[in-house]
Amino acid sequence: MIYGKYKNIRNASWQCIIDYNITKLPISLVSIANKSNIQIVKNSVVNLLRATERGISVYDGDKWLIVYDDNIKTSVNRFTIAHEFGHIFLGHELKKGYYARTFDNKPEVEQAADMFAARLLAPACVLHELHATTAEKIAEICNISIQAAKHRAERMAILEARNKYYLHPLERQVRKQFEDYIKENRSQSHNL
Ligand SMILES: [Zn+2]
Repeated sequence: MIYGKYKNIRNASWQCIIDYNITKLPISLVSIANKSNIQIVKNSVVNLLRATERGISVYDGDKWLIVYDDNIKTSVNRFTIAHEFGHIFLGHELKKGYYARTFDNKPEVEQAADMFAARLLAPACVLHELHATTAEKIAEICNISIQAAKHRAERMAILEARNKYYLHPLERQVRKQFEDYIKENRSQSHNL
């Protein structure tokens, strides 16, 4: 059962990258979904989103469905889908009395799902190794929107100034998993 797989928000995105053996950017959300038996579906097919919604998770009592608005850009949808992964993996509380709908959208829960999504899609230690710290570069290599990348770049500026990467064993493990990817992408920039 994947629901509530991770209890520790801080470590969840690292743990997810490790558990699903992600080795390169952009993070493959389809690969995580396939391995965890989550179905990702277009809203143009199922028509379950309200006008104000970009994405929702639906639990049918057995498996999860993530519905996203396929009328908007992939880079934006990737964040929405990763955010929904956050709700599912962190085991956020289900809305009571709603069978086909799921999470209570309390601000702290939304914030946690956003934090998970940003860290999953744009892992800080990998960006650090690639010296990818501008919003434009982050958007490009992570395939996320420029808005999401701007937030991440602000965070990266703090982390770079602090320069305390790899204190946690999970982050060291992520670094190891991305070894080949980092090598390849570093050498490319050196050849310019
Ligand atoms: Zn949410």
